[in-house]
Amino acid sequence: MRYILALDQGTTSSRAALFDSTGALHALRSREFTQIYPQPGWVEHDPMEMLESQLAVLRETAKSGIAPLDSIAAIGITNQRETTIVWEKDTGKPVCNAIVWQCRRTASECERLRERGLEEPIRRKTGLIVDAYFSGTKLKWILDRVPGARERARRGELLFGTVDSWIIWNLTGGLHVTDYTNASRTMLYNIHELRWDDEILEWLDIPEEMLPEVRENAGDFGALRPEILGRAIPIRGVAGDQQAALFGQACYEPGMVKSTYGTGCFVLMNTGARGVHSQNRLLTTIAWGLNGRVEYALEGSVFIAGAAIQWLRDELGLIRSSAESEEVAARVPDSGGVYLVPAFSGLGAPWWDMYARGTLVGLTRGTSRAHIVRAALESIAYETRDVVTAMARDADVEIQVLRADGGASANNLMMQFQADILDIPVERPACVETTALGAAYLAGLSAGVWPDQQSISEKWSMDRFFQPAMDAEHRSRLYGGWLRAVERSRGWIQGEE
Ligand code: ADP
Repeated sequence: MRYILALDQGTTSSRAALFDSTGALHALRSREFTQIYPQPGWVEHDPMEMLESQLAVLRETAKSGIAPLDSIAAIGITNQRETTIVWEKDTGKPVCNAIVWQCRRTASECERLRERGLEEPIRRKTGLIVDAYFSGTKLKWILDRVPGARERARRGELLFGTVDSWIIWNLTGGLHVTDYTNASRTMLYNIHELRWDDEILEWLDIPEEMLPEVRENAGDFGALRPEILGRAIPIRGVAGDQQAALFGQACYEPGMVKSTYGTGCFVLMNTGARGVHSQNRLLTTIAWGLNGRVEYALEGSVFIAGAAIQWLRDELGLIRSSAESEEVAARVPDSGGVYLVPAFSGLGAPWWDMYARGTLVGLTRGTSRAHIVRAALESIAYETRDVVTAMARDADVEIQVLRADGGASANNLMMQFQADILDIPVERPACVETTALGAAYLAGLSAGVWPDQQSISEKWSMDRFFQPAMDAEHRSRLYGGWLRAVERSRGWIQGEE
């Protein structure tokens, strides 16, 4: 038996997963690391702590005794995207903490880019909306604030990387590379011409010398330094977490969609060789590049999904555990006209309203705990429908099926409501560790564990299928109610509240 070791460097934890050549998961280890909040709205990680946690779970998994070291054919890497690290080429020492994707410190820099009229050209080149979320302005911030950084970068003394680059550089002992998917989230990479964009680099005053070489998603990313495990296992696959999940869900045909229901919700649709320019403020991004061919995806993210369920549990005390939401919601046949719009930090795609705030509407004297819990679960499905509808419109395709994964996809009541409100079947795979699985598939493809994507598609197996069962009139009445509730939530706060 041959195995693949997948490293999943996430926002709150580093994980390592061991898969065999049938795609079965044999071991999963995870280690949390510190979230640093130096100021309201700022989020940092210590790159060394992140690396140590990743190395620790890598060693534990590789040495768990499940797979002999020489049966591990390759390593795959997937990672939290956009998080920005700058380190010294000579010493490997980071010049400051990693600026995490959630960090809003460069919001005003983004405002300035918009004032300079750069939003449209950046969007055309990168497929992204100008936002503090992406790496570009985070890197500029470091170059502006760390004394001497820009000069040193120009002299080739400092290197920039997203988390994949940082991990690879350290695991291999100095290979400075990234992959198409991570590059496509920097706001510096031209996703159509497949190169770092000179003009954007000039607008942000970023020296090209510090950027990593961009590689295909399955291929040569060096090998582990022998000191780490005693064997130089090759790194053969790399992709950012959401693209890895799309790959792990085997969404290889244009029009195939996956939705990951975690703290937030990330919906990606494969659009094939066509980088679709969204009319509905979705992002255009690289899905992967394989065998000289790049494929694209449309992406829409919802900020609060499972987090709304945590809110019911931690702030309102309406449920004891996230899982209990299903049982409580099932006590009522519907939400009794109650809608929760969990716009706790504004609304993401397709609304993009940072002034929206959470709203609970339709309350009557008969509203119960169960109605509110149900409304929260339904809100996740409504938010996903908003994004999926926008995608179908942008790509001009009829979506046949939605593949679900992530922690909250365990909720059967929510999944059935998702199918009902979309009028599209929802499939939940047997393996919901799709992010790690995607990285493993990419590495395994390149290492010859699997001959092609077709053979991976055939391995994708289903846990449960949710068939839409709601009549059209009922669906449109419910969804109409949601849209009215969203209107109530929009533009709620005024200015800097
Ligand atoms: P992340 O990777 O973003 O940390 P996970 O994929 O681990 O998230 O999913 C955790 C989220 O899913 C939490 O917000 C939790 O409240 C929610 N969740 C977990 N199980 C359920 C469930 N059975 N029903 C509804 N929500 C759930």
